Amino acid sequence: MAKYLVTGGAGFIGSHLCETFLTRGHEVLCMDNYSTGAKQNIGSFLKNPRFRFIDHNVSRYIEVQEPLDFILHFASPASPVDYLELPIPTLKVGALGTHNTLGLAKSKDAGYLLASTSEVYGDPAVRPQSEEYWGNVNPIGPRGVYDEAKRFAEAMTMAYHRFHGLNTRIVRIFNTYGPRMRLRDGRVVPNFIMQALKGEPLTVYGQGQQTRSFLYVDDLVAGINRLLESDHHLPINIGNPHEMTVLEFAEKIIALTGSKSTIAYKPLPEDDPQVRQPDITKARKILGWEPKVELEEGLIKTIEYFRT
Ligand code: UDP
Repeated sequence: MAKYLVTGGAGFIGSHLCETFLTRGHEVLCMDNYSTGAKQNIGSFLKNPRFRFIDHNVSRYIEVQEPLDFILHFASPASPVDYLELPIPTLKVGALGTHNTLGLAKSKDAGYLLASTSEVYGDPAVRPQSEEYWGNVNPIGPRGVYDEAKRFAEAMTMAYHRFHGLNTRIVRIFNTYGPRMRLRDGRVVPNFIMQALKGEPLTVYGQGQQTRSFLYVDDLVAGINRLLESDHHLPINIGNPHEMTVLEFAEKIIALTGSKSTIAYKPLPEDDPQVRQPDITKARKILGWEPKVELEEGLIKTIEYFRT
């Protein structure tokens, strides 16, 4: 039995991680300040004696008395709408929160995994994006608060690995969806599903020709577990290479919900990446991982979650 600290453990992805570690018989310390996380995401674990919740903002000094085996740093606003509303907390949790959690890992001699993002590639000039691509980020644009915080977080994690010999991992997560996403987090998956279920027009930004590729959360969790079991310290992409335009995605949601919704075109947000598609050659080779859940299958489960 190992002890895991998951920061952002009450968030969408964090809560799924807490759940798998509990299922595998481990102990979980879940740290969150409910900035964008939710109590209901962890409600079913609270009775588990191997689970403990700590209400704390990880951008401040973190004190944990007991030994820890792994720290997974997932605390951060992650939806563009959220990080535009919380620009300074986003910068702080990526910078100070990463520094604090790395320091804690060093003091506990614990393994460390950083949740990074496809946003480190910015509005990519190449496609698909492999880990070798350095990105095309506007540091002072509205998304810069998230992109640069995560780029700094990666640099800090690599520095702790190289300088202190910390046992670190970095996962670059591409658009992930599934149950426990916040209904109003403003991202395309909850927006479109909610709009379709209410029979409202789906708000497609721009002409909807920008592309994304969507990964079901169970596949992400499987990839993260493989990464934890590996000894790969450089960043690794975890995402679904199946790329589509946002307009095609809107049409898929309308079809799967059986909705009569129409499409309403809205202005494209500033610096919205025009393409995004992970190159997962490394994940396939090094981790023996690739996505298993078909888009329709994952979306049907997610629609069901939002319906109830
Ligand atoms: N998008 C959209 N309508 C919405 C929400 C998002 O057309 O109601 C688009 C957005 O402009 C972007 C894509 O969907 O091109 C994915 O947006 P999301 O907010 O999910 O996250 P991102 O991938 O940009 O980080």
